[in-house]
Amino acid sequence: MSGLLSPRPALWWRREGRAVRCLLCPHLCLLEEEERGFCGVRLHKTGGGLVSLNDEVLLAMAVDAVEKKPLYHWRPGTRILSLGTGGCNLACPFCQNHALSQWSGLPPGEPFAVKSIADELRRRNLDAVAFTYNEPLIWYEFVLEACREMRAQQVATVLVTNGQILPGPRDLLIPHVNAANVDVKAFSEEVYGRLGGELRSTLRFVEALRENNIHVEVTHLVVPGLTDDEAAFRKLVHWLASLDDSIPLHLSRYFPRHLWREPPTSPERLRNLGAIAAESLRRVYLGNLPGESRTICLHCGHDIVVRREYDVVAMELDASGKCLHCGTPSDIRLR
Ligand code: SF4
Repeated sequence: MSGLLSPRPALWWRREGRAVRCLLCPHLCLLEEEERGFCGVRLHKTGGGLVSLNDEVLLAMAVDAVEKKPLYHWRPGTRILSLGTGGCNLACPFCQNHALSQWSGLPPGEPFAVKSIADELRRRNLDAVAFTYNEPLIWYEFVLEACREMRAQQVATVLVTNGQILPGPRDLLIPHVNAANVDVKAFSEEVYGRLGGELRSTLRFVEALRENNIHVEVTHLVVPGLTDDEAAFRKLVHWLASLDDSIPLHLSRYFPRHLWREPPTSPERLRNLGAIAAESLRRVYLGNLPGESRTICLHCGHDIVVRREYDVVAMELDASGKCLHCGTPSDIRLR
C-alpha cells in the first residue's frame, strides 16, 4: 500500500470547531475537511484529524559527499545517505529543487519505512543519513522517528532545512539531530513574507541548534533582485557573528530555475558579498563556483582541508581534529 493511501496521523495539531489547526510551522494552517495545508503534504482527513501524506514516501535517495549538503566542518571527506520526499512550507519562486518541493502527491509506489534506512546504510557501509532535497521539517513524523532510531543505532543524522518550524516541534526534534545546514534566505521579514515564511523562525532555529550544541552551518543563496540586497546581507552577517564568528557561511550561486528568470549570480557579485562576510566571519565559502575551496588553521594559517568541487583532496588534521602543523584544535568535527 502506498504512503498516499495510508497517511500517518500527524503530531502537533488541534481541533477548532469542525476544522483542525496545524501547529507544526508558522503558517498555522486552519484546515477544513479534506483540505491540505500550504505545504501540500498535511491533510485534514474527514473523521481522522490531521494526517501526514508524505510519511513513508521516498522520492529521492542518493549517496552524496557531505560537502554537498553543504557541510564543510563536519566529518569532511565522508559520504552520507541522502533521503528526500515531497513538499515544502515555503514557496520560493527560485526554488532550485522544485520538482520535489512542489510535489502534488503522485502515487509513490512502495512505502519506505524508517527501518529501511538501516538496511540502506548497511548495504552501502555508511554511518550517517541526511534528510534533504525537499524540506525535512514538513516530513516531521518520519524524520523524528528516524532521528530517534538512528541515534539508538549510533548513526548520525543531518537536516538540510529552511528552519521554518514552531518552537514545540523544534525543541522535540533538535536533540536527536547531529548536524544541520540551515538556509537563511534573506535577512528581511518582507522578503520572507514574499516566500511564504518568517525570518524569525529560521533565526531561532539556528540559535536553538547552537544552544543544543548541534553542529550548524548556514547557507545563503544569492538570488539577483531578491536576496542580494547588501544592507540586508550585512545584517545577516552581523547576526551570525553575534552567535559565533566561526559558524561556516556558504554563499551559494543561484541559477535560473522554477519561476525566477534573472540570470545567474555573477561570480564577481558572489565574491564581493564573500569579502563583506569575511570582515566579520572566519569561515566563509563560495558555493556553485568551480575551483578549490580551502579551510585554514585559524592559529598557524596552514591549509587544513582543501576541496575540489565536493571532493576533499587534502586534509591536514590528526585523528582528534588538531592541525598537523601546529597542534591547535580545529573547529572541524571529525566524528
Ligand atoms: S506544516 Fe504544512 S499544514 Fe502545517 S502549518 Fe505548516 S504549511 Fe500548514
